[in-house]
Amino acid sequence: MLKGKLALVTGSTSGIGLGLARALAAQGCDLIINGFGDAVQIEALRAELAQTHGVRVLFEGADLSRVEDIESLMARCAAHGGVDILVNNAGIQHVSPVESFPVDRWNAVIALNLTAAFHTTRLALPGMKARNWGRILNIASAHGLVASVEKSAYVAAKHGIVGLTKVVALETAQTGITCNAICPGWVLTPLVQQQINARAAEHGISEQQAKEMLVGEKQPSKEFVTPEQLGGLATFLCSSHADQVRGVAWAMDGGWTAQ
Ligand code: NAD
Repeated sequence: MLKGKLALVTGSTSGIGLGLARALAAQGCDLIINGFGDAVQIEALRAELAQTHGVRVLFEGADLSRVEDIESLMARCAAHGGVDILVNNAGIQHVSPVESFPVDRWNAVIALNLTAAFHTTRLALPGMKARNWGRILNIASAHGLVASVEKSAYVAAKHGIVGLTKVVALETAQTGITCNAICPGWVLTPLVQQQINARAAEHGISEQQAKEMLVGEKQPSKEFVTPEQLGGLATFLCSSHADQVRGVAWAMDGGWTAQ
């Protein structure tokens, strides 16, 4: 379905981004993967994705919290023909009450979870407009729709990216470009594992009990969302069936935000 298209998936060396990259590659899409990690493991992952799906996969290690890195990344993407599908996924978390929230952590969360998507979007749009086709998927969160305590920067960034999604959708409404946000609930990735470990230590409980507590508190289904399920939604949003899905913040959260 996506043969001949090129997708840039930020933060795709792990977790949700990797699941989304896999789903797009399974549709025949060429990939630019990005993120941090061990160079040997990333090369093995790059080669495995390319071989399994018979697509071209390049790795770019740009630090998306730095505008200069984003600008040179997007220039290299343009040299490969330009990004048809932009998935703004890279994100970090920091948990702390607002009055003691470290200022450097606030700046880091906003830079990566919100500002990076502004820069990739502004730099990807001219090429998409020239080809009159594009898909921009912003990986927001249930925290783009509702709040939780001690996550001020994350909730602000995720609400912000839902707003950015709507503006970009309106500005591209009469083109073949769509922009939508996906709002996952809990997905068991390294980002969430850190929060599970912190809870287990804080309450003196097992990792399994901490997992059940974390999911049970927010998700009526009491089950994690999976990167594969999110990949299915991303694939749909990239298809022609979704041509008129514009500016939505689509929850996949086990009922979290239905409450
Ligand atoms: P993760 O920690 O597993 O993966 C994050 C990815 O981003 C990794 O590839 C990492 O190397 C990369 N990354 C980190 N800093 C970067 C930087 N400065 N520049 C480039 N890449 C960088 O996290 P995840 O849980 O898969 O989260 C992915 C996205 O999904 C985030 O935006 C997150 O907020 C969102 N999300 C996650 C959950 C969840 O429950 N896991 C729920 C809702 C939304």
